[in-house]
Order: sequence, then structure tokens, then C-alpha cells
Amino acid sequence: MFNGILIEKDERGYRARSARLDEAQLPEGDVRVNVGYSTLNYKDGLAITGKGPVVRSFPMVPGIDLAGIVEHSGHAGFKPGDAVLLNGWGVGEKHWGGLAQKARLNGDWLIPLPAGMTGRQAMAVGTAGYTAMLAVIALEKNGVAPARGKVLVTGANGGVGSFAIAFLSRLGYQVVASTGRQEEAEHLKRLGAVEVIDRAQLSAPGRPLGKEQWAAAIDSVGSHTLANVCAGLQYQGTVAACGLAQGMDLPASVAPFILRGVTLAGVDSVMRPLADRLAAWDRIATLVDDGLINSVSREIGLGEVIETAGALMDGKIRGRIIVDVN
Ligand code: NDP
Repeated sequence: MFNGILIEKDERGYRARSARLDEAQLPEGDVRVNVGYSTLNYKDGLAITGKGPVVRSFPMVPGIDLAGIVEHSGHAGFKPGDAVLLNGWGVGEKHWGGLAQKARLNGDWLIPLPAGMTGRQAMAVGTAGYTAMLAVIALEKNGVAPARGKVLVTGANGGVGSFAIAFLSRLGYQVVASTGRQEEAEHLKRLGAVEVIDRAQLSAPGRPLGKEQWAAAIDSVGSHTLANVCAGLQYQGTVAACGLAQGMDLPASVAPFILRGVTLAGVDSVMRPLADRLAAWDRIATLVDDGLINSVSREIGLGEVIETAGALMDGKIRGRIIVDVN
């Protein structure tokens, strides 16, 4: 028996609770992992609170990220004792996830823990930080470089935003952070932002084209914010779009694309091929250290997960939440 979070949905409604689970209940998979750490992403918050249709089958153990040690393996790539990491692949949505002490998984979904990183550090980064790195790589693929000018990061105090600021700054970019929490401006500057702006400047309906302000942007907010970001990019600028914290809609015009050659680069982390995952995590391992991890994350236990998921949905959490499942 082991401990985990269980989401159920039946005639009594949608609910999440701490539960004692039996190894026999674990789903099919060729690798069994003793989970050390998991984390709370925006998507986990949606799943646990039921505020978004994330969970596809019930009962479900949430947790789209996990780090742990292989206990049993029928997969050629892994053996007992290996330290592994998992992000996405529908885990915590369609297949039992990381917010439990054990997981049984498809070995093709796992990657070895990057050299020099602990499982706890990897979970501080989690899908949020890994997505931030995929966004940085998307900008680079479109020719963005520090000399081109300032880079805007929206949703700055969120998990994606915090790591996007830190990674860009450590790579030599001048970062502008957009946030609704001005009281966190000093924290964002310590992460590496050179300028902090109020997200209200971007969140209302705007003009099709605005002043050319940023060479590039990483947007985890969507909706009017993304439309205004497109309108405010410099000629041939690029925005990597990865989130929908303001909304799923995109009330934009084609003006930035056809008059300024702007590129809208979409970023998905969930189904990303293995080679891209390995490349992103290798880059992450060169950029994170305990100073950064400690400034953007805090740790909770399994017993605090449900309450903290509610706070995450209320926009009350800064940075990342690491979950020690043991
Ligand atoms: P967080 O909840 O940690 O951060 C979201 C941030 O967005 C908040 O901290 C806040 O920043 C800002 N925000 C919240 N509500 C609004 C609003 N109404 N208008 C404008 N800004 C708002 O989430 P994550 O960082 O984990 O994820 C961010 C987004 O990226 C989510 O939509 C998530 O689903 C998506 N995502 C997508 C992935 C992919 O594969 N494409 C992978 C990972 C995440 P502040 O307080 O500074 O204003």
C-alpha cells in the first residue's frame, strides 16, 4: 500500500482526496517507479480543483511531472536504481500520475535525470520550467539573440514566467516582466528582469499594431495579452505562445504578421519528441543552481496538495511548488 492523491467523479460529484492506494490498482506499464518528488503545475491545479476538463478517466492520480527511482523495469532503456524524470504524455490526465509514492509507466515516456541535477531540483523546474526552455529554444530557432533587443515575459510570477525570466537573463537577454503583482517587482528583478510592467497594459483589447517595443516574447497568458504582444513586437519579432492563464481566445488581427513579419511560435510540452526533451533538459541543467531553485520554489507534502491547488487557481502562488510525496 502507498499514499497518493485520488480524483474521483461519480453521482456524488467531482472530488480529490488523500488516499491509501494498492500497488495492484496501478495502471499498465513496463516500468515501476518509486516517486521521490512531484510538483504542482497550473494543469494539476485545474485537475485537482475540477476547474478545467484535464482528467480524462476516473479514478485518477493527478501529477503531470514526477522524479524518482526505477524499482522494476521491463524496458530496455531502464534498470532498477536508475534516477528518472517524466513530464507530460497525458500522465496525470489519462494515466495515473506523479502525486503518489508509486507510479507504473510506459518506459518510452521516461528520461534519465540530467547529470548534475537532483530529482528535487528537476521537480522545482517541472513542466513549467521545461516549457519555458522549449519557448527559449523556439525563439532561438527563429533567430532571436540578445543583441536584437528586449524580450517580454508575461505571467511573470507564474511557474513558466519565473523560469523564462531566469533562463533568458542567464543567457544574456534584457528581460521585461509583465505581472499583475507589482509587489513582487523586486523579486522579478532578482530573477533577472531589467524592467517590470503592469499586466493591465496588455490585458485589455488593444490596437492591431502598436509601438515596436520587444524583439521577442514568451507568453503564458493568451487572449488579449497575446494579441497585444503580437502588436507590440519589433519588425520580424517572435512570440513563443505556451499558455492561456487569461483565456483560450486570441482576439488579434493579421496586421503584425503581414506588415511586420512577426512569427507566432506555438509551444507544446506534452507530446514533445524525446530528442527535444533531452535537449531542453540538458540546457536546463546548465542554467539552474540551488540559488535559483530556492528563490522560485517552495516545498509541500502530499497532505497540503489539495489546499495549495486551490490557492494556485486563485493566483495566490508565486513561482513553483515542489511536492515531497514521502
Ligand atoms: P501559474 O499559475 O504558475 O502562472 C500563471 C501566471 O499567469 C500567474 O502567476 C499570473 O502572473 C498570470 N495570470 C494569471 N491569471 C491571469 C489573467 N487573468 N490575466 C493575465 N495574467 C494572468 O501557471 P504556469 O506558469 O504553470 O502555467 C502558465 C500557463 O502555461 C497556463 O495556462 C498553463 O496551462 C500553460 N502551460 C502550457 C504548457 C504547454 O505545453 N504549452 C506547459 C505548461 C504550462 P502574474 O501574477 O505575474 O501576473
